[in-house]
Amino acid sequence: MSKTHDLVVIGSGIAGLSAARQALESGLSTLTLESLLYGGLVTNINELDGEIQGSGIDLASSLMMKVRKLGAEHLPAGATSMTAEGEDLVVHSDTGAHRASAVIIASGARLRRLGVPGESEFEDKGVSHCADCDGPYYQDRDVVVVGGGDSALQEALVLSAYAKRVHLLHRGEHFRARRHFTERILGSSNISVQWRTRVEAVLGGDAVQAVRVRNLDSEAVDEIACAGFFAYVGLEPACGFVPDAVLRDRDGALLTDAGLRTAMPGVFAAGAVRSGYGGLLTGAVAEGRAAAKSALAMIRS
Ligand SMILES: Cc1cc2nc3c(=O)[nH]c(=O)nc-3n(C[C@H](O)[C@H](O)[C@H](O)COP(=O)(O)OP(=O)(O)OC[C@H]3O[C@@H](n4cnc5c(N)ncnc54)[C@H](O)[C@@H]3O)c2cc1C
Repeated sequence: MSKTHDLVVIGSGIAGLSAARQALESGLSTLTLESLLYGGLVTNINELDGEIQGSGIDLASSLMMKVRKLGAEHLPAGATSMTAEGEDLVVHSDTGAHRASAVIIASGARLRRLGVPGESEFEDKGVSHCADCDGPYYQDRDVVVVGGGDSALQEALVLSAYAKRVHLLHRGEHFRARRHFTERILGSSNISVQWRTRVEAVLGGDAVQAVRVRNLDSEAVDEIACAGFFAYVGLEPACGFVPDAVLRDRDGALLTDAGLRTAMPGVFAAGAVRSGYGGLLTGAVAEGRAAAKSALAMIRS
């Protein structure tokens, strides 16, 4: 098999697309692989918060168009494994094998599941992960949101525009979110916050009807009636296909040095799959571009 590209970018979220853009602008022939949806996590967010604003879909499609114009080759395929062969790297996907000098892993992360009874059973029957997509469905009904970080609060605010009441459940005693989110949540007339609360089960018949919760101080168990259930309790790096030669941190995220090089020669990582990623889109863009510059330096050395 002859070499197919200078660079393979795994994942076409904002980090992967930014990496591809930088690589193409620097003259590297680049293949991008995407297993699900071009744009990744942002495609579910209508109103981005932070330095990058607008809708997630608009951001993803404008980057996608730039990358396509620059001559990227896109494959709608998931990477399944990766091996080193001599000086080359070979990425295996459901459509074949792709040989390159360098690989950037930008496969991002998935929303972590709580793992409680009923959560999988009621997936798409009230258990949802996208407030913007499913919010209108809960017009004038009660919904439960779980979590205490930026994502949970941002999505609770989205849902409060539709739902009769949003019950925001958090294990801790205070939020770990940016202040403007906290202030809006605490000032909202239809969001109730329950601190020190753990979800024990999602309950229902044909669809979600309630959640069973436990107060972590009093141990009291209660049920909250609701039609929708949204958990935002962190992210899990999506790197099951990455060989063990690429070292991970305790949470399974990929370890890199300051040049975004992993422990496997020629392999770089950027964005939400990487240990130390800051969590915001400005970081995904900056890391994607930095990883591509490191890959270029390695290829040209
Ligand atoms: C609810 C929520 C709200 C948010 N709101 C904001 C906000 O308002 N402002 C902000 O700055 N940030 C926000 N963020 C954070 C932001 O969305 C992420 O930091 C950013 O999207 C991460 O980009 P990424 O490219 O690293 O990963 P991802 O977006 O996860 O993209 C990775 C891509 O890789 C693909 N992939 C995975 N495995 C494979 C494989 N084996 N082969 C091929 N492709 C693969 C995935 O399908 C995905 O498309 C929010 C996050 C969440 C969860």
